[in-house]
Amino acid sequence: MRADIHPDYQEITVTCSCGNEFKTRSTLGKALSIEVCSVCHPFYTGKQKIVDTAGRVEKFRQKYGTQIPKRNSNKAAS
Ligand SMILES: [Zn+2]
Repeated sequence: MRADIHPDYQEITVTCSCGNEFKTRSTLGKALSIEVCSVCHPFYTGKQKIVDTAGRVEKFRQKYGTQIPKRNSNKAAS
């Protein structure tokens, strides 16, 4: 490796909104807060949870139609 061209790659603590904490390595140089992690992500929990901050899901449906994939049909559209 060449000297003086690589960013400082050190261990940081990542805190999730679900309370989970884990350590990783990053060039960020400070602790990191995240909204979803590998513990609370729907892929791992099996529950459906839409992370929708600014009504983007609704905007998408208005733009491209109201059809919702029937994959998780237990949650009916209003
Ligand atoms: Zn989490």
